[in-house]
Amino acid sequence: MTMRKALYVLIAAALPAAAQQPAGPLLPQLDAAGVTKTCDAALAKGREMVAKMESGSGGAGFLAEWNALQVALEDLGPISNLGALHPDKAVRDAAEPCLQKRTAFGTDLFQSEKLYARVKAIEPAHPRERKLKKDLLEGFEDSGVTLPADKRARAKEISTRLTQIGQAFSRALREDPTTVRFAPAELAGVPESFLKSRKAQADGSYVLKPDDPTNDAVMTNAKSEDTRRRMFVARVQRGGEGNLKLLDEAYRLRKELATLHGLPTYAHYVQRRRMVGSPDVVNKFLAEVKSTVTDLEKAELRLLAEAKARDTGKPAEAVVPRWDESYYKNVVRRERFAVDQEQTRKYFPTPRAVEFALLVSETLYGIRFREAKVPAWHPDVRYFDIFDATSGKFIANIYLDLYPRDGKRGGAWAAGARRASVLAGRTPTSVLVTNFNREGLSHAEMQTLLHEFGHVLHGVLSTAHYLSQAGTAVKRDFVEAPSQMFQEWVHREESLALFRKVCPECPALGKDEIARLAEARRFGRGIHYSFQHLAASFDMALSTQPDDPLKVWKRLETEQPQGTTDFTMRPASFPHPTGGYAAGYYGYMWSEVIGLDLLSAFEKNMLDPKVGARYRETILAQGGQEEEMEMVRKFLGRELNNKAFLEEIAGKR
Ligand SMILES: [Zn+2]
Repeated sequence: MTMRKALYVLIAAALPAAAQQPAGPLLPQLDAAGVTKTCDAALAKGREMVAKMESGSGGAGFLAEWNALQVALEDLGPISNLGALHPDKAVRDAAEPCLQKRTAFGTDLFQSEKLYARVKAIEPAHPRERKLKKDLLEGFEDSGVTLPADKRARAKEISTRLTQIGQAFSRALREDPTTVRFAPAELAGVPESFLKSRKAQADGSYVLKPDDPTNDAVMTNAKSEDTRRRMFVARVQRGGEGNLKLLDEAYRLRKELATLHGLPTYAHYVQRRRMVGSPDVVNKFLAEVKSTVTDLEKAELRLLAEAKARDTGKPAEAVVPRWDESYYKNVVRRERFAVDQEQTRKYFPTPRAVEFALLVSETLYGIRFREAKVPAWHPDVRYFDIFDATSGKFIANIYLDLYPRDGKRGGAWAAGARRASVLAGRTPTSVLVTNFNREGLSHAEMQTLLHEFGHVLHGVLSTAHYLSQAGTAVKRDFVEAPSQMFQEWVHREESLALFRKVCPECPALGKDEIARLAEARRFGRGIHYSFQHLAASFDMALSTQPDDPLKVWKRLETEQPQGTTDFTMRPASFPHPTGGYAAGYYGYMWSEVIGLDLLSAFEKNMLDPKVGARYRETILAQGGQEEEMEMVRKFLGRELNNKAFLEEIAGKR
C-alpha cells in the first residue's frame, strides 16, 4: 500500500500540467442514490419525449427528435462504467437496475408502431440519413415491431432477461471469491516487483486472486509446474456452475428470439445485419482460418514441448498441457529471441507508456492532449482534454482508469460515455479501462494499451451529425478494425522511436531489440489464432444449436492438439457471449482482416500525418454514417482483401 501511494505521488509530481482546469464537460460523479435518481429522471424525460414523438406524424423532423431523445438517454450517466468500476459496491449494485430499466425502455421504444411508421415515412435528404433510416428500420424490425402482439411481448421478455443474464454473469466474475494460496518457494520465478505489490500472510505465504495481472505474472514466470497448474485451475473455474447455467439460458433464449422472427438460428438473426451477411460466410472464413493456422500451431507446440524437455530433463511430451503454454512460450522467446516479457517492462514505465499512446495519436491525427485534475470515481483516474492541433478547438475528453483494485471488472476496454453529435453540439467523452501493472508494461500490455486506445480514438475523433452514428456505432464485425490496426504502432521502429521523447531516461530500444521483439511476438501466433478459432467456433455452435455450453466447449477443445481437462469450466469466465458478442466472436478475426488491410496504407511511413489525416477523415470521423465496406474502399482506393491477415496467421509476415 505504501508503495502504491509513493508511486502515485511520483506520477503526479512528474506532471505539472495536472493543475490545469478542464475544458470539457465532465462526467457526473454519482453515489448510489444519485445513480437511481439521475436514471429515473432521464427515463421519465425520455418517456415524455417519446409520447410527443408518437403524437407527431410523418417523417419530417423525426431524425432531429430522435437525436434529442438519444442525447437525453445518454445523459442518464455513465452507468455501465460505474457498475464495472466504482469502488463503492452500493454504486455498482445501483447501476444494475438502472441498466435493466434502460434496456426495457429501449425495447419499448423499438416496439412502437407509431414511431416505426414515422421512420418509414422519412425522406432522406443526405446519404447519412438514408443509412440512419435503414439502420433504424432494422432496429425496429429486430425488436419485433412487425410481430403479432403475443410474439412481440415475448421478444421484450427475452431482451429484458438477456440483460439480467449479462449483468449476473459479469457480477459473478467481478466478485468471484476464488483465491489460491502459495508458499514463497512455490512462487520461485515470479517477479519480485509483483510480489511486493501483494500482501504476504504472517507465515510468508501469498493468497492470490486469479485476476489478469496475477495470472499473467504467475503463468508466465512461476518455475513450478504445480504452481502454474493450480493457478490455471483457479482461473478456468471462475464464474462456476452458476455462470455456465446463465450462458446456457442465454443461448436458448436467443434461439427462441430468432424463431419468433421466423429465422432458423440466432446466427442468422445477428449476422444478416453484419458485414458478413450470413453464417455461411462466417463458417467459410473460420474453416479458412483453421486450415491456414494448423501447421504453424503444431510447429509452435513442438517447440514448447522441446523447451520443456530441456528444462525438466525428462523426455518431450507429445504436447504440453495448457498451464505450461505461457511459461514455455516465454522460455522459447528468451532462448530464441532473447526476449523476456517481464524484462520488457523496464522499457515501458506505465505513465510513460500512456504518454507514448498520446504522442502517437497526436502525431498521426493532428490533435493535442492536455491533462487536468478533475473529480472522478477513484483517485487513480486520470483525465485529459483533447484539442484539434490546427484549429485549437476543444474536441473531446477522456478518462483513464489503469490499475486493478477490488471490485473493479478485469480486462481492458474502452467505453464511449458520451457520443458525438454535431447536430446537438455534443463533444464525445471516452473512458479507457485497463488492469495494468503500476511499474511498467510488458510489450504484450503495450499492445493492449494501443488496442484500447484505437477504440478511444474511434470515439473521440467522431464528427457524426447524429449521435446514433457516432464513433464506435459501427457494425460489430468492423468495430475492432481500428483498434487491431492501432496495435501495430508498438511493433515498428519508426513509432517506437517516439518513446525516447516521452522517456529519455528509459533504456533505449535499438533496431536489433525491436526486431527481436517483433520476432518474439510472432512466436505463438499459431496457438493464439487456434484459440480465437476455438472461441469463435464455440460461439457459432451455440448460436446455431443451443446445448450444454461446457459439453460443447470440451468437444471443441478435444479437437485441438492440446485437448481438454476434466476440471475446466472455461466458458463460465468467457464474458463475450453475454457481453454483446453472441454470434459475434468471429468479429475479432474478421476485424483483423480489415485492420491489417487498412494498415497497408501506412506501410511506407507509420507516422505520416497525411495518411493519418485521411484515415481520421474517412474512417474515424465517420463512425456509422456510411456503409463500412464503402468507407474501407474509399480509404484504400481498392476492394478489401484478406491477404495480409492470412499471411499473418500462417507466420509469413
Ligand atoms: Zn477491442
